[in-house]
Amino acid sequence: MTEVAEAESLILERMPAWPPRAVAIGDSISRVLAETVRAERDQPPFDRVTMDGIAISHDDWAAGRRRFRVTGTQAAGTAALELGKPGDCIRVMTGAPCPDGADTVIPVERLEVSGDDVTVAADAVVATLQFVHRRGSDRRAGDVLLEPGVRLGPAEIAVLASAGKARVEVAARPRVAAVSTGDELVGVDEPLEPFQIRSSNDFAIEASLRRMDLAEVTRARLKDDPEAMLAAIRRLHESHDVLVLSGGVSMGQFDFVPAVLESLGAEIVFHRINQKPGRPMWFGLSSGGKPVFALPGNPVSTLVCTTRYVLPALRRAAGLDDAPPERVRLAGDVAAPASMTYFLPVKLSSSDEGVAVAEPRPTNTSGDFVSLAYTDGFVELPPGPRVHAAGTVARLFRW
Ligand code: AMP
Ligand code: MG
Repeated sequence: MTEVAEAESLILERMPAWPPRAVAIGDSISRVLAETVRAERDQPPFDRVTMDGIAISHDDWAAGRRRFRVTGTQAAGTAALELGKPGDCIRVMTGAPCPDGADTVIPVERLEVSGDDVTVAADAVVATLQFVHRRGSDRRAGDVLLEPGVRLGPAEIAVLASAGKARVEVAARPRVAAVSTGDELVGVDEPLEPFQIRSSNDFAIEASLRRMDLAEVTRARLKDDPEAMLAAIRRLHESHDVLVLSGGVSMGQFDFVPAVLESLGAEIVFHRINQKPGRPMWFGLSSGGKPVFALPGNPVSTLVCTTRYVLPALRRAAGLDDAPPERVRLAGDVAAPASMTYFLPVKLSSSDEGVAVAEPRPTNTSGDFVSLAYTDGFVELPPGPRVHAAGTVARLFRW
């Protein structure tokens, strides 16, 4: 049977890279950058005044001059004025270019102003270049500002804007079909018999992928009927880049999913992982080379497997920079099945020392998805111990 780490690499190795696409900067929020962005100009692009005040030549100050005569006003968004003879100064505003011939700004708080005559406070400390943000001191024109693989948050979007990127290449969001299978399943707004249940897995998968902005998701629901399933999966396969199925992958008489996928020509990569929950998971590539995940239908298994395998796969395909694994301490002892990897739902909180700790929130069964509400994710506990003691450091996966 396949171990968790092996299953993960078998999946990651097989993920395709879909061609990137250009979007308007305003639509690029939380997308993954797919191009190198360079500085359009020096940053800042000119010697930039950072305080309202006067601009002088520091030579004047060094020569002992404390009174200056204002010869002009330099606002933000105007071309640099020229500082005249010794004793002259120019009134400057934050964001204005430093006037030619000036190299020092004295803030208005240190000035006594009488018309165009300005006297500097006797105790003012005035250093050359003070309150001037020098041209190119942050970045030079042509410097790399952003590299492919970064998720575009507010800071990165600001950098894009500064570089004049009205449109930007981002990783494609694959079209994913989130497909629930099962004769017992009924839609969220349909009347139902006592022996039927509402389908929640397709919504859970959709929520998981859309929240991370990693896919465009359509939901579908199929019956446990091999003929109908075959036709429906064939159709979904044509119009999607990835299939994520749930249910019908175990040993039951009506678990048709693996056989249907194989009859469609899918290449099986693995079936069953040494883990709890989610042991019967199936993964393969369709005849068209598209990834197909078939997850066990128990809702806890579906959500754990989506988080543990589908999300990392889509992150990889998007070229997203690998985040360092997140680890937390267990807040209590955890009994575990020693022979397999155990995924334990947890709620995060903070210890008295300010360390993140994970409070175990075991579910009653892998069908008890209601208990997952209010949890943050799960920890991965490797096979071996029968008990993972409080304080054990474990890898965390957030939903
Ligand atoms: P299966 O993997 O098809 O054997 O299903 C395992 C359990 O998960 C059964 O109790 C199913 O009723 C339940 N289940 C399967 N699919 C869904 C779904 N889409 N939503 C909620 N429960 C499901
Ligand atoms: Mg079923």
